[in-house]
Order: sequence, then structure tokens, then C-alpha cells
Amino acid sequence: MYLLEQNYAAVKTAIAAAASRSGRDPQAVLLVAVTKTVGIEAVRQAYSLGISDFGENRVQDAAAKVASMADARWHFIGYLQTNKVKDVLPAYSLIHSLDRSSLADALQSYAEKADLVADVLVQVNVAAEESKHGLAPAELASFLEYLRGLKRIRIHGLMTMAPYVEDAEEVRPVFRQLRLLRDQNASPGCPMPELSMGMTNDYQVAVEEGATIVRIGSALFSG
Ligand SMILES: *Cc1c(COP(=O)(O)O)cnc(C)c1O
Repeated sequence: MYLLEQNYAAVKTAIAAAASRSGRDPQAVLLVAVTKTVGIEAVRQAYSLGISDFGENRVQDAAAKVASMADARWHFIGYLQTNKVKDVLPAYSLIHSLDRSSLADALQSYAEKADLVADVLVQVNVAAEESKHGLAPAELASFLEYLRGLKRIRIHGLMTMAPYVEDAEEVRPVFRQLRLLRDQNASPGCPMPELSMGMTNDYQVAVEEGATIVRIGSALFSG
């Protein structure tokens, strides 16, 4: 077996085990393969193994990969500059990193012009790390209220990045907090089913805490 195939099998097994530990259906967890460190060949190989969803965090670096794999679903997971909205909105299925009203306004305005809908997750900086983007948990309710007025924006849920730690158990409260924030802010008109949380270092804990989307790079593409 090729390395990627082995890695993919191991990740799938670990997701299934984590899901079953918390009584969840493994099918309820979407794997987004983060391809920011690899080239088109690796993306093609992953796609041929059955991976359908890919994540990128830099518009320019990703452009050739996204263009050559238009059948795949692409997820934008990085900081999104407003002047890149026109490149990202038509090409990506889900933007994980909506974190400010200026970006929401740019998405709304471009979506209207292009007759598109912006499918988004709201990024929350649960751990309040200086180095990370995302809203403070206390800002979430009013931000969601603001988004309600923007008809071209469809909110699917929340996203967070946990701090990097040796022992992923330490960041379990971060994932639990994102789920609670979702539960507190969900409404019948905006149920926010998706929780995008968990990377190579901590996805198993994130799945135990309710992740519906995990974003995994190194566990698939390195080693
Ligand atoms: C790079 C990246 C990932 C994947 O990280 P790994 O540790 O390689 O799994 C996930 N989410 C975001 C936002 C990233 O930038």
C-alpha cells in the first residue's frame, strides 16, 4: 500500500473509533484533507482513494489545485482577505473562517452580484489566542444577529482551532466550549449543525466532543 493509502486508512479507523467512544455515527464526521503542503499529484491520489473534500488556507497557492480538481469540494480554512472574496466564493463549497462584519459584507455583496450563496462557518477563537483569528465567544451572539440581515450568507455552523499542545486531552474543553456555544446560539431558523474542529494533533478528542468536520493535513500527507 502507498503511504497516503495507509495514512487514510489509519485516520478513518481513528475517526470511527472516536465516534463510537462517544456513541456517534462515524458517517457523521466529514474528513477534509488539508492539502496546503502538497501538490496536485497528491490531491489527485487522495481523490482517487475516495477523499472528496479538500481544504486550503491560501488563495494564491491553492488556485492551480482548485482549478484542476473542480469536481472535488474545496473548503477555505484560512484567513480570508475581503479582496479575495471574488476568487474564493465561486470556487469553494464552504468558507470556514468568517470572523468579522467587513468580510460578511464583502461576501454578501459579491454573492448578490454573482447570484451565489455564501456557505459559511463562523470562526470562534475559543482559546483566546493572540496568534489566531476568530471572534471572541462573547461576540458570537451579536455577530450572528448581524449575519441574519445578510440574505446571501448561509450559516452552517462554527469552526475553531485549538492551541497546539502535546497532550490533546488539554484542549478537550476548547472543543466542548465550541459545541456549547453552538447549542446556546442555535435557533430553528439557524440550527448550525456543523462543528469544524480537530486537526492532526487533536481530531480524535474533537470527534469525541462532537466535531462534524475534521481538517487533517499531516496525518494524511506526511510521515
Ligand atoms: C493546516 C491547517 C489544518 C491541518 O493541520 P494538520 O495539523 O496538518 O492536520 C487544519 N486547519 C487549519 C485552519 C489549518 O491551517
